[in-house]
Amino acid sequence: MLGATPIQSEHVIIVGAGPCGLAAALALQQLNLHPLIIESRNIVHSISQYPVYMRFFSTPELLEIGGIPFTTSGDKPTRQEALAYYRTVMLRHNIRMNAYETVTQVEREAGGTFLVHSTERSGITNLYRCDRVVVATGYFDHPNTLGIPGEELDKVSHFFREAHPYTRMKVAIIGGSNSAIDAALELERVGAEVTVIYRGEGYASGIKPWVLPLFESLVNKGRIRMLFRSRVVHIEPASVTIENEEGEEKLPNDFVLALTGFHPDREFLTGIGVTLEEDGSPTFNESTMETNVPGVYLAGVVASRKQANEVFIETGRYHGQWIANHIAIQMEEKPAR
Ligand SMILES: Cc1cc2nc3c(=O)[nH]c(=O)nc-3n(C[C@H](O)[C@H](O)[C@H](O)COP(=O)(O)OP(=O)(O)OC[C@H]3O[C@@H](n4cnc5c(N)ncnc54)[C@H](O)[C@@H]3O)c2cc1C
Repeated sequence: MLGATPIQSEHVIIVGAGPCGLAAALALQQLNLHPLIIESRNIVHSISQYPVYMRFFSTPELLEIGGIPFTTSGDKPTRQEALAYYRTVMLRHNIRMNAYETVTQVEREAGGTFLVHSTERSGITNLYRCDRVVVATGYFDHPNTLGIPGEELDKVSHFFREAHPYTRMKVAIIGGSNSAIDAALELERVGAEVTVIYRGEGYASGIKPWVLPLFESLVNKGRIRMLFRSRVVHIEPASVTIENEEGEEKLPNDFVLALTGFHPDREFLTGIGVTLEEDGSPTFNESTMETNVPGVYLAGVVASRKQANEVFIETGRYHGQWIANHIAIQMEEKPAR
């Protein structure tokens, strides 16, 4: 039932204003399509939620979109610098964006168009009819959960923002990625008692090479406890239970940071009719980013296959241009309305 909600007409709707959604908008602007981004929070929301004092591992030119220069004071951008860059790009290039509006459903219509349903923060619902949809919803809203008892306790978080609240606290970090290593270093600096629990045999190959020696030296000095081949099996209000080849160990604990990565929301895609491959990844053409549903494209991390970290800004920023190239060919054949 459409009720009395008026329908707004658009050529292209982009769902998500992350770096890859913005890059897609810039590429589509070149075709004079004036795409509309609908973003459930605000521009580059995921980056705004990253650890407050984080520095990207990429150099700034590898994070640039639309060929717009990104220069920073140090060799790697800070979170603040990236926020300022993407925000300025959006403002200066007049990218159309509705913030704090969540796309709840994309419906296919008989003639090949789409009805995009959304809800604003106030609860107002909107309807848009468009020719094409670019899904650029990322993964940050969907942390990988552990599925163990106690995960629902208040002291457990899947996100790390800053170390200060953990001073003198006993903190268990679950995971062995850059996020886990960076958080452990920050926590150690503020006087937290840190144990890193990781199921891997040794340090992951992707750990930033300039960070690892510092981390290892703190482990060797006994200032951070690093447990390999170990997993947390139970989280209790004042402890965590760890299991490894030596058996089970209960550690006194105040907080748990489960930094175990993220995964894209596949249900949103299947709801539009996008099929999933055997490994659970969406079906799409890697040259055009078009899915099996004609007119529905993927941009950014949402297009990653099994490993969510195979697409990142450095690589996902090109998706928008491939999408624009594909649409340009179609427009030559059949000009836009
Ligand atoms: C700590 C950390 C450090 C990183 N460092 C680097 C680095 O140095 N270099 C690099 O290249 N990559 C890095 N990455 C990865 C990079 O940040 C991500 O790959 C990037 O954010 C992906 O961009 P995206 O546009 O695909 O998705 P996102 O940035 O996640 O954007 C998706 C947007 O979609 C919105 N959204 C979701 N669902 C809806 C909906 N239904 N309706 C409307 N809006 C919706 C979200 O609010 C969000 O704003 C890092 C990641 C982390 C976690």
